[in-house]
Amino acid sequence: MKVVYSDHHLAHDPRAFIVRGRMQRSNEQPERALRLLAAARADGHEVIAPPDLGAGPRAAVHTPEYLRFLETAYARWRQLPDASEEVLPNIHPFPGQPCTYPESVVGQAGFHMGDTACSIGPDTWRAATGAANAAAHAAQLVADGERAAYALCRPPGHHAYVDRANGFCYLNNCAIAAQHLRQFHARVAILDIDMHHGNGTQGIFYRRSDVLTVSLHGDPRLFTPFFTGHAHERGEGEGLGYNLNLPLARGTGDDAYLAALAEACATIRAYAPGALVVALGLDAHERDPYQALAVTTPGFARITAEIARLGLPTVLVQEGGYLSDDLGPNLSSALRGFAGAA
Ligand SMILES: [Zn+2]
Repeated sequence: MKVVYSDHHLAHDPRAFIVRGRMQRSNEQPERALRLLAAARADGHEVIAPPDLGAGPRAAVHTPEYLRFLETAYARWRQLPDASEEVLPNIHPFPGQPCTYPESVVGQAGFHMGDTACSIGPDTWRAATGAANAAAHAAQLVADGERAAYALCRPPGHHAYVDRANGFCYLNNCAIAAQHLRQFHARVAILDIDMHHGNGTQGIFYRRSDVLTVSLHGDPRLFTPFFTGHAHERGEGEGLGYNLNLPLARGTGDDAYLAALAEACATIRAYAPGALVVALGLDAHERDPYQALAVTTPGFARITAEIARLGLPTVLVQEGGYLSDDLGPNLSSALRGFAGAA
């Protein structure tokens, strides 16, 4: 399988991350992508760098003001007196209340950053656009006839909304891949198997019927992002019925996961999309630092084999999965499972 990978992520190394009130180094570290890359190379996959696709793919998903903010925020922030090394928000608009778009970069940080897990450093924009290019190029490879392609994206993307970063995510790589595929197919499905709800992806397509969004994830009553990912969120307006959330209990193992996946796949089959984007998080693993679900390493092969049996042109997009000795083997298992069933 072709692996699309940009090394522009290497200098994006966010320092700030507040966990239960304590500031610590982010879990979302460059080493993650290096381990995934090493695993893909060891399995003989061809690794290619994406071309610079320009602003088009990301502008098809995100607002101009948000893209301008992401590109310029760090330099503007550093001009403030006593500014920290990274852009972090400390004030947010209130839902349902009047909200004027602020001129100040401090105000814009609060407007465009949903939490403290998406700090912006000097190389964040370069990393995020490299990942978005990888996703868009993988989508183009599939549009050109590849059965499947894997975009090794870092930073991840599925928490990013149209105009808001959060949860380590800035540009929504899966949404960018799906939107790119819409040029070739009337309907595209996104299946999110990251341990966390794909809140940004859901938000981007919530009022649309041309992109089906399906997410399996740890129960949001227990796990971030808390506010979304509940089963009753089914879409709105034109999009009503085109969003499916399958929350899973803490400690869900392979068999129960596969039972939920069967429901997800039945919904995707009924939708009859022309292509599929998979948000391939590996943090549902039993030894991932999040310790939320309990999928095994061989379990990932069973999951991706089931996805491959949908028989759709498929873009696999890397999402979460954090540092542990199992990270590389989990990717190997996932890619082998897909290839073995395809
Ligand atoms: Zn995750």
